[in-house]
Amino acid sequence: MLRPQFTLAQNLVIDANTCIKIFQDKIQPKKLLMIKPHYYNIIDLLISDGIFCLLCYFSISRNMEYYIDSHVHCGRLSGPSFQDYLTQIEQTHIKTAVVFSSVAEIYDRNDPNFKDNTDWQLRRTKANEHILSLNTSEEFKVYSFFFVWNDFSIEQLKPFVGIKWHRHHDEPKYDYKSPRCREFIAEIQRRNLPVVLGEEFENTLLFISELAPQAIVIIPHCGLLNGGYDELCKSGIWKKANVHADTALAGPEIIADFIGRYGHEKILFGSDFPFGDPVFELTNILDLRLSGEVKESILCSNIVRLTSQVERRDCL
Ligand SMILES: [Zn+2]
Repeated sequence: MLRPQFTLAQNLVIDANTCIKIFQDKIQPKKLLMIKPHYYNIIDLLISDGIFCLLCYFSISRNMEYYIDSHVHCGRLSGPSFQDYLTQIEQTHIKTAVVFSSVAEIYDRNDPNFKDNTDWQLRRTKANEHILSLNTSEEFKVYSFFFVWNDFSIEQLKPFVGIKWHRHHDEPKYDYKSPRCREFIAEIQRRNLPVVLGEEFENTLLFISELAPQAIVIIPHCGLLNGGYDELCKSGIWKKANVHADTALAGPEIIADFIGRYGHEKILFGSDFPFGDPVFELTNILDLRLSGEVKESILCSNIVRLTSQVERRDCL
């Protein structure tokens, strides 16, 4: 029997049995789209053998034992590796992860006056390329996110399905005034690349309200390191349709509060490995008194939806 396997960009491979079922049942994908609008967000457009097909993630929606960790750091030179992460989640149902480099390979976070140079640029390029190289297994998928710094390297963006933008208040600053920064942000918005945005409070608001108002933003830790959860609540930023949170290290009370106020479709499960323990962070979500549909959104379909909106024409 023909066992089709479709690749979405370079990061997702759809389940072959799902494809077979869709074709055997002769379900018109467009009809499916109309009958089940709920699935619209997890349907993606892709090209296979020159034919446009619409396929959906039925298997993921049906099978609650497929989880996606939306916040994982892996080192190339130092710090815990991707293999260390896989070992740690071996006994869980985490089958996919958003992965980006460790901060230590992007800039010198211990030097607030750090100036970029060619050695660091090379190191950064290799760190990002390393993340791309991790997506080789059929059993475990990686959504590769590009960790950006002040060279704002649009040239390297093409294969990635998201952006890591990261800075703490005592670390060297992003050069928001540089023309390269503006061009980079324009490209992020053009391609609908989700941005995991770690910044101090003022810069978080600046980024979302002024610099990149169209960008899909995921604020890690429910904002604990972006000025605090309560401060961001007061600012009204979570109410924006394009602003989301991840659950890493936020704790069950804040996560439950966020879901109650802003809805389960705006929050994603993340562990922040190696700073957070993926098993502990996952248990926090599984232990919350939430319906199956809500858990499925947080543990899987929200990040699928956000990455499925990425402009892929350049990647195919
Ligand atoms: Zn992190």
